[in-house]
Amino acid sequence: MAARLIVLGRQGAGKGTQCARLATRLGVSHLSTGDLFRAEIATGSPLGRQLDRYVSTGDLVPDDVVLDVVAANLGSAALRARGYLLDGFPRTLAQAQALFEVLGAGAADLALEIDVPVEVVGARLAARRICTACRSVAAARDGQLRCDACGGRLERRADDHDEAIARRLWLYDEQAGPLLVWLDSQGILVTVDGVGRPDAVHDRIYAAVAQRVPAIRAPVT
Ligand code: AMP
Repeated sequence: MAARLIVLGRQGAGKGTQCARLATRLGVSHLSTGDLFRAEIATGSPLGRQLDRYVSTGDLVPDDVVLDVVAANLGSAALRARGYLLDGFPRTLAQAQALFEVLGAGAADLALEIDVPVEVVGARLAARRICTACRSVAAARDGQLRCDACGGRLERRADDHDEAIARRLWLYDEQAGPLLVWLDSQGILVTVDGVGRPDAVHDRIYAAVAQRVPAIRAPVT
């Protein structure tokens, strides 16, 4: 059976970067609810306009809307058989319980929490820039306007302003407590230290996954 993973962590904990790398290494689909919402917002559709009201202020999108979007993306049996990595979902206890109710106990083999203290992620989010050309995520140095990788223009994510950052971090701490307790009660929670160089964090995460998910114990090249 292919790996099915949930990845959690405060905004700015490096989830997006680590999830993309881990999903590629494991050969599973990477589903980020934040990315799905931003793509929908960019289309300007009625759903996108509804999502934008929450995302731009740092509020959580209501559970029923989130669950519809996830169901549409996890609906494929082929995708589920290949394995998946859920990035940014579930974010609330109700979302986690709905996921396990619909897909059963096999909904996730492991829930990985990337742990980075709030004071560290606050500084990272304030410096975070996205390249408008290659979409890579960078920690901008003072006054830096161009991407080191491709020279594209760097911009701040629309929800990386001080108020929305504070709101998202507060909400994470409020919602994550009961969610983590519940995932732990299912016997699938592992917490990994997310402070340090991205390579070192990736090695820690991969080791935790390899130890817990039998399907990937064989080395993956
Ligand atoms: P992210 O890219 O994971 O930081 O998500 C960006 C924004 O999308 C969040 O601040 C929320 O507004 C929204 N969002 C993403 N995933 C969820 C979720 N599972 N539940 C509620 N809102 C979400």
